[in-house]
Amino acid sequence: MRRQACSGCSCVDLEPFLDLGLSPIADAYTAAAEQDPDVYPLEVAVCAKCRLVQLLEMVDADVLFGSGYSFYTSASPPLSAYHQAYAARARSRHLDQATRGVVEIGCNDGDLLRHFAADFPAVGVDPATGPAAAARARGLQVQVRPFGLAAAHDIRDQRGRQGLIFANHVLAHVADVGDVLAGVAALLDPDGVAMVEVQYLPDLLVNNAFDLLYHEHRNFFSLSSLEQALLRHGLHIVDAELTDRQGGSLRVTAAPHPHPNGYVDRLRASEAWLNGWGAYGGMQGRVDRIRTRLVDLLAGEGSVAGYGAPAKATTLLNFCGLTVNTIGWVVDTTPAKQGRYIPGTRIPIVAPDDAPRPDTYLLLAHNYARQIMAANPGGRWILPIPAPVVY
Ligand SMILES: [Zn+2]
Repeated sequence: MRRQACSGCSCVDLEPFLDLGLSPIADAYTAAAEQDPDVYPLEVAVCAKCRLVQLLEMVDADVLFGSGYSFYTSASPPLSAYHQAYAARARSRHLDQATRGVVEIGCNDGDLLRHFAADFPAVGVDPATGPAAAARARGLQVQVRPFGLAAAHDIRDQRGRQGLIFANHVLAHVADVGDVLAGVAALLDPDGVAMVEVQYLPDLLVNNAFDLLYHEHRNFFSLSSLEQALLRHGLHIVDAELTDRQGGSLRVTAAPHPHPNGYVDRLRASEAWLNGWGAYGGMQGRVDRIRTRLVDLLAGEGSVAGYGAPAKATTLLNFCGLTVNTIGWVVDTTPAKQGRYIPGTRIPIVAPDDAPRPDTYLLLAHNYARQIMAANPGGRWILPIPAPVVY
């Protein structure tokens, strides 16, 4: 189904700027090489009014999240360490709020929430049954359902208003941003704070990170577009910071009362360029150029394998038309992915110890380039983003 109105402000003036053609569901890793998955349009637009960037094609949630494979936060050691540092920071700054109750929207397997549950009343909400069961096995309280205004009212009835609400990398996935933020506003204590983290759109645009576009990621935020979405529900951004997660992320602290913050003002001012068409208009040409350059580079290499099978690998390989004919296999340390295939490519995913070292690795998990290349020294590496380069 094609989106007709903005997910954030309901404006119908959506301006398309990047078309990646047809692509399969990115993390629906297939069990057999000859299993050709369904493909869906992968095209993004920017809202003329609030500048929220969003996917135009809305794939059904059943198709998107019923693939059998689920992402488990704890399976990624760097992400787990990131959550530990995040929790320590939130606890030191918002101890009073935490004592009034902690809620995490989209808690996955509880990798962040576990840092609160021992000391504070804490509950997670997540519609994904596999990760939610893993969180419960850790002794965490989890409600298995999507979060929105209805869920917020139920939690408020059960537990009262809450002091600290987390929504990390959740707003990208929801079909209705307004319903989630209405729920946050309804559940939050008047003196509480919500910490919301999203992938940071300006970094995506600057880095040509088109592979971060896949059907599970429906919305892409700047501080300005997130601020407008929050303000519609009476929530003010009182603090912000940029982090390195997912190629550049924005973490904001939102509260029912405004509070001046110089950094928020500076960041908002730095986003003025996003109001012009120039921020979006050149993206298609740059992305097309990456495809041409990458295909040419790979043609001159010896044996080539991929390193890492994150969801973004599916977008990159499908857009570039790269299949098992060019990339013999992909190594990934996640056991649940091993033995499966990257959708639409017939490229098998294998454990690092089960494959020989190729002449060249195409680094598909390029956000972890430094760590991966340090752990696997030698050989040739091609980094595809922000522009293909050989190391
Ligand atoms: Zn809008």
